[in-house]
Amino acid sequence: MKIETGHRWVGWSDTGGNRFETSDGAAIEAVADATVFALGGASWPRVGSDGGWVSPFRNAGIHVSELAAANCGIVVGWSDVLARKFAGEPIKNARFTVGDMTSRGDAMITALGLEGGPIYALGPALRSELAATGQATLLVDLHPDLDHASLVARLAKRRPKASISSWLHSAGVSPVAVALARDVTSNHLPGDPAVLAGLLKALPIPITAMAPIERAISTAGGIAVTEVDEDFMLTRRPGVFVAGEMLDWEAPTGGYLLQACLSTGVAAASGVLTWLGVAPTN
Ligand SMILES: Cc1cc2nc3c(=O)[nH]c(=O)nc-3n(C[C@H](O)[C@H](O)[C@H](O)COP(=O)(O)OP(=O)(O)OC[C@H]3O[C@@H](n4cnc5c(N)ncnc54)[C@H](O)[C@@H]3O)c2cc1C
Repeated sequence: MKIETGHRWVGWSDTGGNRFETSDGAAIEAVADATVFALGGASWPRVGSDGGWVSPFRNAGIHVSELAAANCGIVVGWSDVLARKFAGEPIKNARFTVGDMTSRGDAMITALGLEGGPIYALGPALRSELAATGQATLLVDLHPDLDHASLVARLAKRRPKASISSWLHSAGVSPVAVALARDVTSNHLPGDPAVLAGLLKALPIPITAMAPIERAISTAGGIAVTEVDEDFMLTRRPGVFVAGEMLDWEAPTGGYLLQACLSTGVAAASGVLTWLGVAPTN
């Protein structure tokens, strides 16, 4: 077996050979009985996966859905004050909703917007809302374990001369929650306990974009599953197999991405053995 590094696949030749450019600029063509591509998506392109394969695949008539950032942060137009004072602060134990998708947990405020598992989980819903209307709204329930009436009851106990900060503090509203509510209302917090409770249970945060794919954990989009057979062989290119993030699927972080990449890799390898008429060894 020979492993070659520093070879960039740049497309197929007219006769179906694999064309490579080597790191010293040489052009090489390799003809293979079977080829497995695992060239990744386009997130963190500086570590190698830059989606450069998309054009040659599309030119060969293979349907490749647009690559998009998945498992990534979202962009919020925070005020300068919020971005400066609260970037790096977590929103603890909140419920996040976009359309009919909901997630729960901790999210991190960043200078750009929001990051974290519950935000990543809402990626598909946020992406489709952004694609449809150019904007999206994230509803944040900052007190998911209190119903509206219980939160109103807490907020109703305001001492006559208490400042807004000490009133909300004594009602158990965290400084981060107060800052977010101030930001969303341009510092016009409602004084009415029922209205304020409604706001804290469904704080509408306007989302302007997904974070750039360059900083995303994974890539949505890719080679349509209709382009491959059950062995992950391209139906338009017999003998050519694909695996991993090149394919159009998405999954949450937590090992599911790696599992899907490894599983499709094993399935493609087994497909190669079938294609070559070689019995698999266990
Ligand atoms: C910061 C970060 C954290 C992550 N955390 C998790 C996690 O906790 N759990 C989880 O399950 N997943 C995680 N992932 C995702 C996981 O790493 C990917 O889903 C997985 O590595 C994709 O595997 P792949 O083989 O499809 O592609 P890649 O791992 O991207 O490998 C593709 C390879 O192909 C090479 N390549 C690309 N184009 C060419 C070309 N034209 N010619 C030759 N070579 C080329 C690239 O250099 C690269 O080496 C994380 C990803 C990132 C970026």
